[in-house]
Amino acid sequence: MSELVGTPEQVISDPAGVVIDDLHKSFGDVEVLKGIDMTVSPGQVVCLIGASGSGKSTLLRCVNRLEDPDAGRITVGDFEATDLDVNLDAMRRQIGMVFQQFNLFPHLSVLENCTITPRRVLKQSRDEAEREALHQLDLVGLKHLADRRPAQLSGGQQQRVAIARALTMKPSLMLFDEPTSALDPETVGEVLAIMRDLARAGMTMIVVTHEMGFAREVADRVVFLDKGVVVEEGTAKQVIGAPTQPRTQDFLRRVL
Ligand code: ADP
Ligand code: MG
Repeated sequence: MSELVGTPEQVISDPAGVVIDDLHKSFGDVEVLKGIDMTVSPGQVVCLIGASGSGKSTLLRCVNRLEDPDAGRITVGDFEATDLDVNLDAMRRQIGMVFQQFNLFPHLSVLENCTITPRRVLKQSRDEAEREALHQLDLVGLKHLADRRPAQLSGGQQQRVAIARALTMKPSLMLFDEPTSALDPETVGEVLAIMRDLARAGMTMIVVTHEMGFAREVADRVVFLDKGVVVEEGTAKQVIGAPTQPRTQDFLRRVL
């Protein structure tokens, strides 16, 4: 297949920063996040790594308030995400999220998957929404599959559609929760290439991933989470290349 993947033609003009301050979250008696501090500057890429169950997804989900934190403060750009009176709809419009499972609408075409939210939420006309969607699909190399149904695409292609779909909303922050974990190995690279382009375009990104090669190449900072605590953070070179904490060393021995 000779799809052109990776045309870094877009520039993210207004990336948001994220500040997380002493974030706590429990489910029942189990404290899953035990006082997380994390800062992501506008345009930065932070890779969040850690074993299964360490709280990575919960942390991401608190950022767009899919989970309500018990304590602590989160700001996303100009939004006080943890304020009771925050405009959640407006905040979430600025935050794109990509999951392990692509969550495309199976009964809609690729193009319709990318236009439905801009039309409904941003009240764009069909023409306007289709123009932007085709532009985003072009950037991920999939414009020629706009009329297909998701099931007719490979996993990697579906995930690229999911990214294009998120970008049609012009987010200022992108959250990725293990975006390549469900993919066949041969399609992982094409998704990582799109994410690399997006990082180069200046998007603020928080990426939960086990792809240490990607983290080394793209991440400005790597944060290692264990049992709801940030154990170690720094550049990829520091955290992945020369971890100082035994728990980080253990984890990396298992994934590398
Ligand atoms: P990770 O993404 O690092 O694998 P998660 O954030 O998904 O970790 O989960 C952290 C812990 O919180 C796990 O023990 C998980 O079982 C628990 N957990 C996550 N979501 C819920 C929930 N909605 N209700 C109860 N427990 C949950
Ligand atoms: Mg998870």
